[in-house]
Amino acid sequence: MTTSKNLSGKPSAVSGAAAATQPAGPAHRSRLTAQASGAGTDVFAAMETLGHEQVLLSHDPSCGYFGIIAIHDTTLGPALGGTRFWQYASTDEAITDALRLARGMTYKSAVAGINLGGGKSVIIGDNKRADREALFRAHGRFIETLGGRYITAEDIGTSPADMEYIKLETDHVAGLLGLSGDPSPVTGYGVYVGMKAAARERWGSDSLGGKTVAVQGAGKVAYYLMQHLHADGATIIVTDIDAEKVRRAVQEFGAVPAAPDVIYDQAADIFSPNALGATINDETLPRLKVQIIAGGANNQLAEDRHGDELEKRKILYAPDYVINGGGVINVYGELHRWPVERAKKKAGEIYETLLRIFEIARRERMPTYRAADRLAEQRIAAVGGLDRMWMGERK
Ligand code: NAD
Repeated sequence: MTTSKNLSGKPSAVSGAAAATQPAGPAHRSRLTAQASGAGTDVFAAMETLGHEQVLLSHDPSCGYFGIIAIHDTTLGPALGGTRFWQYASTDEAITDALRLARGMTYKSAVAGINLGGGKSVIIGDNKRADREALFRAHGRFIETLGGRYITAEDIGTSPADMEYIKLETDHVAGLLGLSGDPSPVTGYGVYVGMKAAARERWGSDSLGGKTVAVQGAGKVAYYLMQHLHADGATIIVTDIDAEKVRRAVQEFGAVPAAPDVIYDQAADIFSPNALGATINDETLPRLKVQIIAGGANNQLAEDRHGDELEKRKILYAPDYVINGGGVINVYGELHRWPVERAKKKAGEIYETLLRIFEIARRERMPTYRAADRLAEQRIAAVGGLDRMWMGERK
């Protein structure tokens, strides 16, 4: 672990020039990974460049717990972001992932219009491990030390049952059994309205009736999305590596099945990735015949340049972290005890948000993924500027 090599005083490795050359935007794409490769992560350099507020490490030898919490920005509210449980190859890799994901959460919540900042935590280890109580209680205690500055939820490698263990030690956890439950209906609805906004931008009408949508992945989010598409009279082409899920979509929505490796080649109007990340890449991009990409998967662009390339090819891209914001809206609703209908109504605002992003992209002549970053940064700057006025003593 090389994180201490620059801990004496101000981080000398970071120059203003280095910070200036870093592009703006959430680090959920490739940049931090590149920066962190090689000799090791200079944590202060990364924090200064990417704007993180705080990074904490915790170890509990009684249960073999190694945890990291990264808080990116709390201008809008407490930092929310799930706990990822993963067998990282090194501590550097784990810190890099926490930093990258925390920053992505700041942008996601900012464009979703909710009052949350961005954070993330990781636990290093085997996520199949059976003895989970002590481990997740240790994590809960670590979260509790932050007094609400960080709120966690489920992520890769963790389950609602793990969140219950965390809850034994802290109230700053969402995604609990019997509360907001599965976020997929809200996420699927958000993807649907986002797709309609993209249709309006591209074709002048937001009707999806008569359009053909190639849906990659027929899991939870895609299921609810396809329900809406079917009701609107869209033609659905569907693929999944799980044949049972494809069968269900064929039966319930009259979807046309396709093999996973040919989904990119379909003669469709819209491609909707709802399975994996990095599906827009050098190999798939030239194969796409669609005019719109709008789906729920996280991190759809393998690299930023693929977003630029989509723009060149006149394929309208609905930025992933905007269109799948229903998930974080659902968590926010749980924290504020919203009924699911209220969360769905909030997710409906993704329609207007995307129209604004498309407008920024047109006006500023920038790709839509950058326009989304711009909108998020504008909201953070606007809210951050509010506290100039003295409001009296607050309770
Ligand atoms: P899910 O596991 O229910 O569905 C994913 C589906 O993709 C599965 O059915 C899986 O078999 C299929 N799949 C995997 N590899 C595939 C391949 N190569 N080709 C075709 N299909 C493949 O997950 P989900 O909750 O529906 O989430 C889908 C995506 O949306 C994920 O990227 C997730 O991170 C993202 N997301 C989900 C939510 C939510 O509320 N669930 C919120 C925000 C983002």
